[in-house]
Amino acid sequence: MMKELRESFEGKGEMKGFIFTQLQKTDKCYLYEVKTEGHIGYEVFQHKINTHFNCISYPSSKAFGVWAWYFRDKNKAITKLKEITGHICKGCGSQISYDVEYCGECICEDDMDI
Ligand SMILES: [Zn+2]
Repeated sequence: MMKELRESFEGKGEMKGFIFTQLQKTDKCYLYEVKTEGHIGYEVFQHKINTHFNCISYPSSKAFGVWAWYFRDKNKAITKLKEITGHICKGCGSQISYDVEYCGECICEDDMDI
């Protein structure tokens, strides 16, 4: 059995005093709210399996900018989550599959490169 990330936990070490709460989870990534006294932020990171411990990895500070991202703005965090989870249409921002750039519904035919 794979050890899942807990929905809520308190940080240790460099993150001592921070409360982590899972807001969203997809098959590719997670969104956590990170709270400490007088401060609130959001962390988005990819679903990574630590095969050594057979668990889902929570990013350390080294992972940020590589496979984890920090936002002060919740909406930006959600956009990032969508970006990783699926692909976002360049025209309208709706969720689309990986192999296309546009959803095909939000642009006129003249703009389509066919
Ligand atoms: Zn679109």
